[in-house]
Amino acid sequence: MTSVNQLVDAILKGEHRAIARAITLIENNAPEARKILSMIYESTGKAQIIGVTGPSGVGKSTLIEKMIRELRKRGKTVGVVAVDPTSPFSGGAFLGDRIRMQDIATDSGVFIRSMATRNNPGGLAKASRNTVRVLDASGKDVVIIETVGAGQSEVDIVRVAHTVVVVLAPGLGDEIQAIKAGLMEIGDVFVINKADRENANKAVSDIQAALEISPKQGTWGPLIVKTVALTGEGIAQLLEKIDEHKRYLDVGGAEARRRQMVEVEFIEAVKQKAADYLANELRQKGRLDQLVTEILEKKVDPYTAAEKLLAERFKINEGT
Ligand code: GDP
Repeated sequence: MTSVNQLVDAILKGEHRAIARAITLIENNAPEARKILSMIYESTGKAQIIGVTGPSGVGKSTLIEKMIRELRKRGKTVGVVAVDPTSPFSGGAFLGDRIRMQDIATDSGVFIRSMATRNNPGGLAKASRNTVRVLDASGKDVVIIETVGAGQSEVDIVRVAHTVVVVLAPGLGDEIQAIKAGLMEIGDVFVINKADRENANKAVSDIQAALEISPKQGTWGPLIVKTVALTGEGIAQLLEKIDEHKRYLDVGGAEARRRQMVEVEFIEAVKQKAADYLANELRQKGRLDQLVTEILEKKVDPYTAAEKLLAERFKINEGT
């Protein structure tokens, strides 16, 4: 049995088996996971984190595969976290894809892992954020996190990235879908993949128009890049744009963005800890049953009961 200390040492040396083991512990919400995360925390913050999101079928996995190859050519090591159940990285690959990617799978400079979405969809954002941390601490230069941009939770997941790349393809009505799914607001770089299709330019102008009416944060005007992931066309340019965004952040907004992310995460941790602690205390004192009965009997509603409890416990009154 490897100790947590040995596991952390191995993670920091970049050993893939240790990384995989830590991610499994994170996914299972194992007690060791907390320890590992707290021990590696000071070694995080070095990797460039890129989020890739967009509807299913637009070519995200193909694009990421080409991004990995280009980054490897540039001497960078890469970690990939796929939170997409349909992604070939998640095991849903056609045989051809698996064979095509075999060299990547055996490359010691690349670590690819999919997150088990079935375990706890609610905790997925937390689990994937912590997985990114493990890869970051392990020394990977670039960490790519892939999600299907379909809902708020996926949007939350991809937000941990320095740069969010929204991938769309022409002719699928993706622009409309993207607007609905809130992707226009989170994209720093927009990719129109499958630019080999004839209506690619129309997709670009549609996205341009959609961007003009969507609210902007800061002075960064999102960039649009056309790619053909199948052939690798536009991939180098995409990486340039991502780096350009990173430089923009380094000059201005990076610190603010990081602060905001840390604040949200910290408050989330406080909430969770406080809730667990109080629920435990209520159970031990036998008060939980009593309160639940009162709520069931409509003597009090859940929110008023919670307010009263907190007022009593911390001598505060939330309503004031
Ligand atoms: P994902 O669901 O977004 O990860 O999409 P995939 O990477 O699995 O790609 C979906 C399909 O689109 C596959 O059949 C790919 O071969 C195809 N595809 C990906 N990129 C391109 C491209 O640039 N042009 C064309 N014509 N097809 C592409």
